Amino acid sequence: MSPAFVIQHHLATADHYDFRLEIDGVLASWAVPKGPSTDPRVRRYAKRVGDHDLDYRDYEGVLSVQRRGGGIVQVWDRGTFDNVSKRKSTAISAAEALADGHLSFVLHGEKVRGGYSLIRTRGDDDAWLLIKKADAEADARRNPTSTENESVLTGRTLEQIEADGVE
Ligand code: MN
Repeated sequence: MSPAFVIQHHLATADHYDFRLEIDGVLASWAVPKGPSTDPRVRRYAKRVGDHDLDYRDYEGVLSVQRRGGGIVQVWDRGTFDNVSKRKSTAISAAEALADGHLSFVLHGEKVRGGYSLIRTRGDDDAWLLIKKADAEADARRNPTSTENESVLTGRTLEQIEADGVE
């Protein structure tokens, strides 16, 4: 079975998208301030953050400040992914690619699809870049973080999730 990915729109102190890939039973996670782009020319800064439990991928709601610092969480996109990472033209596992600082994968989401790379920048273990591969799903004109703002889990906007209240 293909591993899961989820992108949670998280409106907290700062607005960002939490990009999470299931690797070795946990959700490896990056906070992406602007979210994923569908334009291969755009590099989106992605800050590596702590792993989350796999169960968290379905979480949507209003977090209390005591729990994870608060904020509103929406399941903005989700699906499965195929790891296609390589090291010197040899296929490697997602866990190996994570350690290498260069992951390549194909997303099968509702909003975001096709090839992406996550590449660690030199000199900072937490600073990565999320880049769309130039493939059939690339589209420089699409801007899904602006135009597709409803939850793929419940259809709710962030405002509606907030109105529905604290868990
Ligand atoms: Mn977050």
